[in-house]
Amino acid sequence: MPLEKRLFGTFGVRRTANNVLTPEFASRLAAAYGTLVQGTVAIGGDTRTTTPMFMNAITAGLLSSGCDVVDIGILPTPAVQYAVRNYYDGGIIVTASHNPPKFNGLKFVDEFGIGLSDEMEIKIEEIYFEKEPKRASWDEIGEIYQNSSIVEEYIDEVLKNVDIEAIHEARLNVVLDCGSGAGCVTAPYLLRKLGCVLTTLNCQADGFFPGRDPEPIEENLKDLKNAVKDLNADIGLAHDGDADRTICIDEYGNFVLGDKTFALVEKQMLKENNGGIIVTTVATSQAIYDIASENNGEVIATAVGDLLVARELKEQNGIFGGEENGGLIFPDFVYGRDAAMTVAKLLEIIAKEKKTLSELVSELPVYYSNKMKIECPDDQKVEVMSKIVKEVEKTTDYNLDTTDGVKILKDDGWVIIRPSGTEPIFRCFSESDSQEKANEMTSWGISLVKKFKK
Ligand code: MG
Repeated sequence: MPLEKRLFGTFGVRRTANNVLTPEFASRLAAAYGTLVQGTVAIGGDTRTTTPMFMNAITAGLLSSGCDVVDIGILPTPAVQYAVRNYYDGGIIVTASHNPPKFNGLKFVDEFGIGLSDEMEIKIEEIYFEKEPKRASWDEIGEIYQNSSIVEEYIDEVLKNVDIEAIHEARLNVVLDCGSGAGCVTAPYLLRKLGCVLTTLNCQADGFFPGRDPEPIEENLKDLKNAVKDLNADIGLAHDGDADRTICIDEYGNFVLGDKTFALVEKQMLKENNGGIIVTTVATSQAIYDIASENNGEVIATAVGDLLVARELKEQNGIFGGEENGGLIFPDFVYGRDAAMTVAKLLEIIAKEKKTLSELVSELPVYYSNKMKIECPDDQKVEVMSKIVKEVEKTTDYNLDTTDGVKILKDDGWVIIRPSGTEPIFRCFSESDSQEKANEMTSWGISLVKKFKK
């Protein structure tokens, strides 16, 4: 059993599979969650080798607490969130999202399909560590059901939210790279239904992730970039391991930053809705604010974490939200990052505007950004962070925002330094009016972490 009393990171519990995260751990944690839910819980997972093991372990834990379990299979995280919001009382998703193959994790959602609040997480931890989960008597043990229709229903619902005819007419040439993750069961079928000329890479589900690492960062997408160029495709699309994020490659084979796709879709959503509330995190581009002010929108910024954005969207009745990493949230459909809706919406924009992806991106406000990360053990993060805040307060007279980590706002840009909630690292993002300045700012941020970590 892990010694730490906080099990949850930014979204759920994520650890090395079968080491800290064992079937016994997963089963007890699921029973603790089931103790609070006392209803019907949907379970689904990604393509990792350890996913079936954990699906069985959490099933046992949930049944033991008296919950019924609906197994909806191997499918993207947003498809589980969709199912829970529409049919069930809760859900557990077995996934480590973009992390390497040896990891796995559990994402817990509430009855709206939103990642659990801190309050609920603390209650689960209390049951896990200090109390006992409810253990139902033999005649109150839950039952197991299967529902194999969610994948198809989820795809059909995505199609209902876009102009299918316009996309069909454009007959877009698309290269898709699911990285052997959960997108394999949805994305190729969605794109065919949208009438695309489709070439697939890594679209066979495989927990060894033989084609590429599950994280859709530029260095992992060389094959996709080359394929887009070689095939003269209109766009390349990549998903992370649990297919809640979409990353794009333009028609020249260039990697498009998540901020840019966010901005493109934001513009479209604001136009369609004649304005509205956009929710994002403190780590997102100034471009999001610029577009909002041009299109009758208002931006609300939360701490980093897609579930915080999702919750704020629900509370504020926002129309759209997202993060700088390509995770976009369409709250009318799913209260969480949704890769399939993102794909459909982007193709709709390209089809209707009759412009290429690079042309559309070039019309967006231009800012230069940089991201770096540096290792730092989890048990040093709090101390390092507070020393950085003190140092920055002492040595600069810039505005500080401590919604999450510390964001330092200068006249010509900003930099944010924050500890990751899921990995033993600090992340540093910056944005400025030149690439040089952005690079300088992240290097400075990284140097501060170096200075204070042991
Ligand atoms: Mg993910």
